[in-house]
Amino acid sequence: MSRSAHPAGPRHADVWPEGHYSAPPADVNALDPKVWAQTVTRTDTGEVSVGGIGVAALAEEFGTPAYFVDETDFRARARAWRTAFGHDADVFYAGKAFLSRAIVRWLHEEGLNLDVCSGGELTTALSAGMPADRIAFHGNNKSTDEITQAIEAGVGRIVLDSFQEIVRVAHIAQSLGTRQRVQIRVTVGVEAHTHEFIATAHEDQKFGIALADGQAAEAVRRALTLDGLELIGIHSHIGSQIFDMAGFEVAARRVVALLAAVRDEHGVELPEIDLGGGLGIAYTSDDDPREPHEIAKALGEIVTRECEAARLRTPRISVEPGRAIVGPTAFTLYEVGTIKPLEGLRTYVSVDGGMSDNIRTALYDAEYSVALVSRTSDAEPMLVRVVGKHCESGDIVVKDAFLPSDLAPGDLIAVPATGAYCRSMASNYNHALRPPVVAVRDGEARVIVRRETEEDLLRLDVG
Ligand SMILES: *Cc1c(COP(=O)(O)O)cnc(C)c1O
Repeated sequence: MSRSAHPAGPRHADVWPEGHYSAPPADVNALDPKVWAQTVTRTDTGEVSVGGIGVAALAEEFGTPAYFVDETDFRARARAWRTAFGHDADVFYAGKAFLSRAIVRWLHEEGLNLDVCSGGELTTALSAGMPADRIAFHGNNKSTDEITQAIEAGVGRIVLDSFQEIVRVAHIAQSLGTRQRVQIRVTVGVEAHTHEFIATAHEDQKFGIALADGQAAEAVRRALTLDGLELIGIHSHIGSQIFDMAGFEVAARRVVALLAAVRDEHGVELPEIDLGGGLGIAYTSDDDPREPHEIAKALGEIVTRECEAARLRTPRISVEPGRAIVGPTAFTLYEVGTIKPLEGLRTYVSVDGGMSDNIRTALYDAEYSVALVSRTSDAEPMLVRVVGKHCESGDIVVKDAFLPSDLAPGDLIAVPATGAYCRSMASNYNHALRPPVVAVRDGEARVIVRRETEEDLLRLDVG
């Protein structure tokens, strides 16, 4: 497609500018259930509602921009993972995707465990009543204070990420008069992307200890000799936003091979393996994610088969979905501001938020979709780029999408699938006030993380 052949503005497929879109949707008012939370629907008036409440009322009460979480959907997804993995496996929600005390309580009530990777996440989890033995502590550079905090709290496992950390955690546990349950995080030589995986010989990344050159076997050797540690298993996490199960298959095979080698060398059968998170979700209608029961079945079969071949007892499996649970359950609601048509290119639609509430587009070139939600429209679809209000040209929320061409300032638009890695990665760039997170369920909406205020900003500024 060329950028030059459409002086009258983008209208037809053969003259649109380059971008990450196909044709305009058949119905620009339609809401694809793949990308929208479960209770999101258009009412008779054409307005969109979630949990039975219309977006205009939500914007009126809570302001924009704001994140709205469909609590019914969150609980259903958490339960689906729990049910799919059954009693012989554990599901650890990856708190970094989005964590708040309400989320911790929902997870606890739905029977999930929790991954944390900082003292702050651990404190949030404990303060909301997550039992410490259902918490796993991650990270490639846990501080002495964080390790001490985690061991004193009694976390169920610490995932060891380096040779230095093996010694450090053993030492701290011993000085506290305890033995800490630990897993060792290994890198299996798999680089997983959305629709493919690459087997790599060398691990050029900061996480974990490589299987390839015997490093992981050496880590196990050391951990088994230290009194402060109880080694319960091996951990692997291969990437994120993955749709293809082949990478998990290779990872599981290599982790089981390590378990067999450990059994042969030490006469010890480690009882657990953790296959990490990274399962993909639909950000646009082009994405087709797997259901939790399909993932559980596939992983269970791979591990069972490999263990039978190696004559090992099948270990207890755990998984760590973050995005796959919270991602699809929320949308960000924005008010449309300035609209700037660029002749022959696309129309820039500015919203009252931007890269401070969703950095993923700028950071990962992520794709999102968007819809006009305060009303329907019969107008022709127009090609838009939804941008924020920050002083940065990379401040893009949705690169390419279609909205009705009668879009006007004051309309409400929403970006679905922003539950994961949006509020948790939000910043104060340009002294933006980070938006609230509002949980909606059965006709009731309540703030679970309040909007930041200018007083919050000034409170930190003590100069
Ligand atoms: C980030 C991370 C996860 C969660 O990843 P998602 O893509 O959100 O599922 C799970 N485990 C570990 C160790 C991680 O670093």
